[in-house]
Amino acid sequence: NIPTVKHSYQSDVVRLRKIVINSLYSNRDVFLRELISNANDALEKLRIVSLTEKEVWDGTSPLNVTIKAERDATGKGGRIIITDTGIGMSAEELATNLGTLAKSGTSDFLARVEGEEISANSNLIGAFGVGFYSSFLVADKVTVASVRPKSSNNPNPIQNVFSSTADESSFEIFPDPRGNTLGHGTEITLVLKADALDYVAPSNLMKLIHHHSSFSTAFPIYLWNEVEEEIPAEEGVREVDNDTPQDDAEAIIEDTMPAEAAPDPKKVLVGRWEHINSQPPLWTRDPKTVSDEEYHLLYQATFKDFREPLAWSHFTGDSGSGVSFRAIIYVPSYLDETFFSKPLESNSRDVKLLVKHVFITSDLGEYNLPKWASWVRVIIDAEDLPLNVSREMLQSSAFLKQIRGIVLRRLIQLFTRISEEDPEKFAEISKVYRTVLKLGATEDQKNRGKIAPLLRFDTNQRNATSLDDYIKNKKRGQKQIFYLADMGKPVSHLAGSVFVEKLDARGYEVLLLNEPLDEILVQTLRTWKGFKFQDIAKAGLDFGDDTEEDKDVMVELQEKYAPLLEWLKVEAQEVVRDVVLSHRLVTSPCAVVADNNGLTANIQKLISATNR
Ligand code: ADP
Ligand code: MG
Repeated sequence: NIPTVKHSYQSDVVRLRKIVINSLYSNRDVFLRELISNANDALEKLRIVSLTEKEVWDGTSPLNVTIKAERDATGKGGRIIITDTGIGMSAEELATNLGTLAKSGTSDFLARVEGEEISANSNLIGAFGVGFYSSFLVADKVTVASVRPKSSNNPNPIQNVFSSTADESSFEIFPDPRGNTLGHGTEITLVLKADALDYVAPSNLMKLIHHHSSFSTAFPIYLWNEVEEEIPAEEGVREVDNDTPQDDAEAIIEDTMPAEAAPDPKKVLVGRWEHINSQPPLWTRDPKTVSDEEYHLLYQATFKDFREPLAWSHFTGDSGSGVSFRAIIYVPSYLDETFFSKPLESNSRDVKLLVKHVFITSDLGEYNLPKWASWVRVIIDAEDLPLNVSREMLQSSAFLKQIRGIVLRRLIQLFTRISEEDPEKFAEISKVYRTVLKLGATEDQKNRGKIAPLLRFDTNQRNATSLDDYIKNKKRGQKQIFYLADMGKPVSHLAGSVFVEKLDARGYEVLLLNEPLDEILVQTLRTWKGFKFQDIAKAGLDFGDDTEEDKDVMVELQEKYAPLLEWLKVEAQEVVRDVVLSHRLVTSPCAVVADNNGLTANIQKLISATNR
């Protein structure tokens, strides 16, 4: 008499499940990582919600993940049960979250597999975050029991069950006949496929969890472990402790030796919850003791990004207001395509602020990182901010302002160090972050002087030249940094410009600027190390190496061509302001240039583009 509602999966889900199952078959270990990651998300959500809605969590009942695996009595089947005491899902949420395509990693995965960016047998494939559907890699049948916490909005929490089999295109949702056994949270039962029965061995589960999930969380993970122990006869049979483990009930199996005096040791099966992620978080360790792989795994688990970061910096600091903290900043290997078009807020999840290992917020409010650095991924764990402060109070604290300054400084230091020590790596970084660094040098007045040396420009002579390299390469008497800006044009086009040819012939290097931001950048910088930026398409070009002889020649030519110039000025008065004799051209007979104080054609384009 339980009302069961039968739902059809969204058609994409059916397709996705098939693709996940087929292409991930050899990496099916990932299911556990995905389910633990969901459990962690749910626990984190509960704690965050409880900051503003006190009633959902009393602050003391344990927030944890428990994992129990068991073989059927027949030995032919087995199941894994993963339970969290997190936020849970209502019946509607079970249907939408598990029955329709999550926005998450899963769709990224789908896009890349279907685009054949990764071949089906690539080892990389297991690196994707594929979400809940990875359950079906190891299970024929999955049931999810879930219940939202009791609150004034939800006075009588009902625990519901979502039930689905691997080969059906529908799932069922019904109230749990057992009633509310969870209080709040979610219990996922995987009925294992016949060929996945090995997973029931706790030692196998332990290995997987250590590899994938031990970095990810402040929440304890407990694994049910049963071991045969010999105990002295008089102790009798031990009770199996079947309770949900409490936070402090950390049980470590110790080898119990039979007492010498005991005549008849008995073998009993003793089951215990073992706390398997009790090691301190990675960022509290000495960086010298942390391997690259551990940094990668922490990055994956924390930011759900399965592409290895390009670089990171792990440091301890003091905010200046007496709050000490540890932090790791990561440089992702890519920038979202939409980075420049999307508003700033949507990047803020990339900062994880923790207090005493506990996640507090990703939103630093007015102290969020500026746009140019908003892509950086950061874990900051503060020692001694009072934990019970509301998030609003945190945001106004001086700490956040200081943190922002420190993160920016460290990021710039990281880039600077790489640019000095590992130019090849820096080239890789520059490929991705060239434009945001230009943005930084333009917008961030305070750090401009430190960001500018990180900028790289293509020139008529080489690629990826820094301003300092440019100056080292200057010709005798050169007082200016020459550039030509034409946004959107390929560099090769700029290199072939009539403006460049004369300078090229004389051996001068010219920065070839083709990004919208470039011209604003050089106008903001104005000078670098005493060298003025000079647009070679504008009047005011000064080579600084003109000899007296050159000047005499110009005077002579000036006289000789005076009548032609007068005539041209009259003929072209509608279109140009002046006609002058130039020494900047080699093969082209003439060029149209901007007045030194006037808007260049490029800026005009930029303005009309933004006004559109
Ligand atoms: P993702 O975690 O990337 O969003 P998943 O496929 O892993 O994608 O999960 C889909 C959604 O199902 C989650 O976003 C979440 O809303 C919900 N969900 C999954 N597992 C749990 C859980 N243990 N507790 C609460 N909600 C969950
Ligand atoms: Mg997930």
